[in-house]
Amino acid sequence: MHDVHAYAAFSATDPLGPLTISRREVGPRDILIDIKYCGICHSDIHHVRGDWGGVTYPVAPGHEIAGVVAAVGDEVTRHTVGDRVGVGCMVDSCRACPSCQKGEEQYCHHGATMTYGSVDRYGELTHGGYSTHLVVPEDFAVRIPEALDLSVAAPILCAGITTYSPLRHWGAGPGKKVAIVGMGGLGHMAVQLAHAMGAEVTVLSQTLNKMQDGLSLGADHYHATSDPETFKKLANTFDLILNTVSARLDLNAYLSLLAVDGTLVNVGAPSEPLAVQVFSLLMKRRSFAGSLIGGICETQEVLDFCAEHGIAPRIELIPTQKINEAFERVLASDVRYRFVIDISTLKK
Ligand code: NAP
Ligand code: ZN
Ligand code: ZN
Repeated sequence: MHDVHAYAAFSATDPLGPLTISRREVGPRDILIDIKYCGICHSDIHHVRGDWGGVTYPVAPGHEIAGVVAAVGDEVTRHTVGDRVGVGCMVDSCRACPSCQKGEEQYCHHGATMTYGSVDRYGELTHGGYSTHLVVPEDFAVRIPEALDLSVAAPILCAGITTYSPLRHWGAGPGKKVAIVGMGGLGHMAVQLAHAMGAEVTVLSQTLNKMQDGLSLGADHYHATSDPETFKKLANTFDLILNTVSARLDLNAYLSLLAVDGTLVNVGAPSEPLAVQVFSLLMKRRSFAGSLIGGICETQEVLDFCAEHGIAPRIELIPTQKINEAFERVLASDVRYRFVIDISTLKK
């Protein structure tokens, strides 16, 4: 076991602060990662504040991890010391069930081991990337293409894959009208990805404050959801709506924007239930669906896709000491568009 520095939550209400955590010895198929950057996902806030329940404290969050391989086990073949690698929301799964065999480890029938807040196969609580080092099985680390700086690669490990996977699954592409609800960390990635896939992209944001950014990221249209006219103008329009909002929305209002056979996919994960009027669905054979991150293979795919298409998250780099302030700004929708922690500030 190795002691490493981390920044952790100690309760649902206290600010995060420094903590020493243990990382296991590097096993034959493990790699040790020297973490350079970690993004702040809204899920980190939901988790540590107990929005989804079942939290064991203290816990160091963070699942948008980019770093450099510092050591490898004897049987490791995919990575070597010095490689630039990333780790997202999962650090292990059973590898044997039909979902794992299909490369959809996020839907592992036995439950994937999440990067933080899970109990791993060694019986230890997992801690995430708000820390200096991480030990993971080599097949749960992906390669970061040279074209991407590590700091901007980090948010692709969750915000990127979480939006890429449903856009691909529901066929975003030429001839498809796609709406992205919420221009935050996930939303601003979704706009770039859907545009690069060839879809006609509309942003539905609470206000028009971020319109210039949305258009420069590739949106064709931008509307404020605070304006009731938006819902009248855009009724029955979209083939696909990706809802990235972290809070409860009037789902029926958004379902009314779907064309016949359209699908509204929720990736936003509010703690409260969302009410669906079945008539919102059956009048136009609409679907309401959800999607969880993406598999490891697909995570490599989205990193390569971003490198190829010149897509990068817009980030605000912060030192560890500003994490609590950043959490408040995320909660106030005051982030443009992802906070990324410079982990070198944790060593001091
Ligand atoms: P974020 O950066 O805070 O973005 C959320 C955006 O939603 C905000 O920027 C805001 O956009 C909009 N919004 C916030 N509160 C709202 C409200 N009360 N009404 C309407 N719109 C509101 O968060 P994120 O990191 O992108 O994460 C978004 C959600 O996805 C979270 O719930 C997170 O847990 C979840 N998530 C799910 C997965 C998955 O696998 N399914 C993976 C990662 C994250 P505007 O200012 O443009 O309106
Ligand atoms: Zn996340
Ligand atoms: Zn499995």
